Amino acid sequence: MELIFATSNTDKLREAGEILGKDITLIMPKKLGYKGDIPETGATIDANSKMKCRFIWDKFHKTCFADDTALEVESLGGAPGVYSARYAGEGHDDAANRAKLLHELTKVDGRKKNIRSAKFRTVVTLIHKGTLYSFEGTMKGTIAEKESGEGGFGYDSIFIPEGCSCTIAEMSENQKNAISHRGIAMRKLANFLSRLQ
Ligand code: IMP
Repeated sequence: MELIFATSNTDKLREAGEILGKDITLIMPKKLGYKGDIPETGATIDANSKMKCRFIWDKFHKTCFADDTALEVESLGGAPGVYSARYAGEGHDDAANRAKLLHELTKVDGRKKNIRSAKFRTVVTLIHKGTLYSFEGTMKGTIAEKESGEGGFGYDSIFIPEGCSCTIAEMSENQKNAISHRGIAMRKLANFLSRLQ
């Protein structure tokens, strides 16, 4: 089965490919000739996930899915949340976003509880034959004091999953996929797709 993944993020594509397995061929919009941006201007990750998926469905009318992810830090009132990709400002990269988050945590009142508690949340949207389906995954953990590890992407090098002693960036991709927000949401998608065929 061929499935369009509404993303230009090759890290996400690789993770999704590992989880969905060989029976599903993932195609990025740029392979179909669309090299522009995919809009994600919603107020929530649910809205963004749906917006990205609808945008690609409207262009190609082929089965497609999108994901949108937020990192929510308890003591920062859920920030960076829907702004996770641009926390340090438009045009800044993942390293700047991580640096800003570590800095913001140094400003939190030390008497607050669970200062470093956080969770990743992913919403995957699928459109198949014009009908929209939604799948969600969450991973709880804490924000590390400093960066560690070379693997993963985004905030992985500062996120320690619950029950673990290292950051996601210090794990193998298989270990990450087994417990991650995207892994959980994508396995729900895989299960749904297997019942379609
Ligand atoms: P988006 O889903 O592409 O909008 O991602 C929002 C932000 O979260 C971006 O800064 C990503 O780099 C980051 N992000 C998304 N997925 C992950 C992940 O699995 N690990 C760490 N960071 C992630």
